[in-house]
Amino acid sequence: MPEIQRRRAVTVNIGGVHVGSDAPVVVQSMTNTDTADVESTVQQIAALARAGSEMVRVTVNNDDAAKAVPYIVEGIAKKGWKTPIIGDFHYNGHLLLSKYPDTAKALAKYRINPGNVSIGRKDDDNFRTMVEVAVKHQKPVRIGVNWGSLDQALLTKMMDENSKAADPKPARDVMMEAMVVSALDNAAAAERYGLRRDQIVLSAKVSGVRDLIDVYTELARRCDYALHLGLTEAGMGMKGIVASASGLAPLLLSGIGDTIRVSLTPTPGGDRSEEVRCGQQILQSLGIRSFMPQVTSCPGCGRTTSTYFQELAERIQGYLVEQMPEWKKHYPGVEELKLAVMGCIVNGPGESKHANIGISLPGTFEEPKAPVYVDGKLYTTLKGDRIVEEFQEILNEYVEKRYGRVLVEA
Ligand code: SF4
Repeated sequence: MPEIQRRRAVTVNIGGVHVGSDAPVVVQSMTNTDTADVESTVQQIAALARAGSEMVRVTVNNDDAAKAVPYIVEGIAKKGWKTPIIGDFHYNGHLLLSKYPDTAKALAKYRINPGNVSIGRKDDDNFRTMVEVAVKHQKPVRIGVNWGSLDQALLTKMMDENSKAADPKPARDVMMEAMVVSALDNAAAAERYGLRRDQIVLSAKVSGVRDLIDVYTELARRCDYALHLGLTEAGMGMKGIVASASGLAPLLLSGIGDTIRVSLTPTPGGDRSEEVRCGQQILQSLGIRSFMPQVTSCPGCGRTTSTYFQELAERIQGYLVEQMPEWKKHYPGVEELKLAVMGCIVNGPGESKHANIGISLPGTFEEPKAPVYVDGKLYTTLKGDRIVEEFQEILNEYVEKRYGRVLVEA
């Protein structure tokens, strides 16, 4: 696959995780527990980390949340995770970071929203206070502009100027420009107040796919700060996944984006880790990073009258998700594994031969047997009621043999 030319971006060290063009694109996520509830927040961060989140953000919205942060960081470390914890601040971050130095110290990065840090003020003293705390503790910050909370004074000024121009731009274009200007002006201010360029990450989040592509393309053109990509409020389920993939893919393929978050709305009681797997899958589908063995399965058609092969594909996919936390530790490279689960012999053997391991189940009117291919060659033919179990055994043996050996040699 042709290599993607990453945009040159300054690399930022966030609690040991590097973000920038010298590092792989990092997947991050955010909790939705009450940060003041240490136990629940630690549990959720651990689940996100287990799913592969390389950084996790928590909201720090009041005194109780701020007081909880050092205990959360300690709780995560006790569980054996080194995942950097990022504090998300709005409105009162300058107060909380000044009042709770242990929290300022425990966090790996502060997210500052320039649109709401100095509301009601004519100066930027609150922003400056947050940056000075970051300088004191040598922490990086993300200057995260969001169109839902864009600096209204800046936007009004730019809209006014535009309305007086000889050839005014559409309001949408002025809004996009205001996002870029807000991010860049605040980054410049952060540098004036003592942060280095390699301590600054920028984001400019919107909820429309085309807006996202335009605003980040412009931001990338005008600076070399590391960029955090993501749609804000991507939405729920399929809508959120498709919108995120559609927005992130063109940017990532153009080399723009150093860390990503997929902001899915979970279903009530749903699994928060889905946003991590979605981010990973976007990167893996684009051939940027590998996280997880990939299962190619056909959609099925009238040749497969039973749902058996769909169940097999689902069980194999579930089995991989279950195994990966352990496999990752013991079988380096296993994330590159490719499987094929196909519904009949029309494309089954062909697709199976392109995979490391492939199985074609019998279609309607075909003989009740399932040929299994390993590394392009017919390995065995499975029959009877234990096809799934026997296929899993072949899979386990393959993983052990192919990726276990790497570990021994190392
Ligand atoms: S591989 Fe067979 S079952 Fe699957 S879509 Fe193609 S023809 Fe249909």
